Amino acid sequence: MAKPDFTLWPDILKHVQTAYPDICRQWFVDELEPQSFDSGRLVINVKVPFKKPYLENHCTEPFTEAAQAVTGKLVAVKFADTDDAQDLTPELVMEHVGDNGESQVDQLLLIPDYSFDSFVRGPENHFAWSAAVAVAKEPGTHYNPLFIHGGVGLGKTHLLQAICQTVVQNHDDMSIRYITCEMFVNDFLDCIEHGRMQEFRKRYRNLDLLVIDDIQFLEIADRTQEEFFHTFNELHQLKRQIVLSSDRPPEEIPKLEERLVSRFKMGLVADISRPSFETRIAIVSGKAKLRGLDLPDDVVKLIAGRIETNARELEGAITTLQGHASLHNRQINLQLAIEVLGGPAQDGRSNHVTFQSIIDVVCDHYDVTLRELQSKKRTKSIAEPRQVSMWLMRRRTRYSLQEIGGYFGGRDHTTVMHSIKTVDERAELEDDFARELEALDNRVLNGG
Ligand code: ADP
Ligand code: MG
Repeated sequence: MAKPDFTLWPDILKHVQTAYPDICRQWFVDELEPQSFDSGRLVINVKVPFKKPYLENHCTEPFTEAAQAVTGKLVAVKFADTDDAQDLTPELVMEHVGDNGESQVDQLLLIPDYSFDSFVRGPENHFAWSAAVAVAKEPGTHYNPLFIHGGVGLGKTHLLQAICQTVVQNHDDMSIRYITCEMFVNDFLDCIEHGRMQEFRKRYRNLDLLVIDDIQFLEIADRTQEEFFHTFNELHQLKRQIVLSSDRPPEEIPKLEERLVSRFKMGLVADISRPSFETRIAIVSGKAKLRGLDLPDDVVKLIAGRIETNARELEGAITTLQGHASLHNRQINLQLAIEVLGGPAQDGRSNHVTFQSIIDVVCDHYDVTLRELQSKKRTKSIAEPRQVSMWLMRRRTRYSLQEIGGYFGGRDHTTVMHSIKTVDERAELEDDFARELEALDNRVLNGG
């Protein structure tokens, strides 16, 4: 069918971009096109089918409003994919597994933003990322289960989403179920109450890929743990892929039965820690690009420097900034960013000092290698530079004691605390050592 000549389309896109910067994405330009426009109905073709549910849920109103504003007519907008005749996109259509079609149990919506491509890799998340990629490529063959844990806003959901999206796109014959722990628990309780356990079992045990976000909430659901245990075993025996996320490692989930703890650790447990300055810079640039936003370098640095906690807050800062700019019709520049977000963080700890730069200075000065610093060796020639590195990291970066310990071959925070104290005490007593420290500190601050 020939495409209608729909000259107002660029204006509609533009309207969405200015009026709804929040939901607007760079890929709209390439991946959306008007398919037909008759009887007040604008059908927009979505080239990548799995993105349709996201568009329907988040973008129908903005596009409707834009189409009406631009055409001056009453318009209804509908998103369609390439073969919408059938309307059977390979996305999450698990309910086809069941035969009665009654119980439409919701699944989580796939958000196109959360792809592997848009996930910024750094030393903090590299392990989790590569495991997720492997699992997405060949579900059920590598790490089973894959258990990803880490604090809030560090990208767990993003990786889970990316796995689902990849599988949806590459293995459209696979049945996937992507839910939160809460949905699992509610589904279970609901099925018990209505005597539909058989249906419940069928729903879960026929899956190729089961992805459950925030599994730490299983702690409060005793009876569900039992059922989950059996579901887990069955899927696992059949070599079906299970992916779980949690805000803490399996053994720290309170009230989680021991047998489940050990099941969760059977495959691969990967953690994600807080993003370093470099990773944060890349996340801010990436998020801005996704929104088609051109952020000047100094603004990117300001945001990455001010917000150290997690990627979610970095993104929040972009949204705030974008909101202000469009509300007051101003350009996004450093001045606006400082007005809206505040100036650069100010305390002795710099945002520009990285672990690597400290290691470079220390290794050069003491003539040791990183491998030695990270080893278990405790001879003075290694222990001293190691302690000095920790001292510098504590002083000049924003990493926690735990993160610093983790960098040095998984030492715990008390070891780091002890090292720092040792360095401080020695500097009090020995002037030479104090001067040496100061020189090293200066080198770190001056970039080596
Ligand atoms: P969590 O589930 O760990 O609480 P999310 O996956 O929801 O965190 O991430 C919060 C936000 O931060 C999302 O917008 C996500 O895309 C973004 N984000 C987190 N980590 C990264 C990363 N490494 N690269 C790009 N974006 C990230
Ligand atoms: Mg999450």
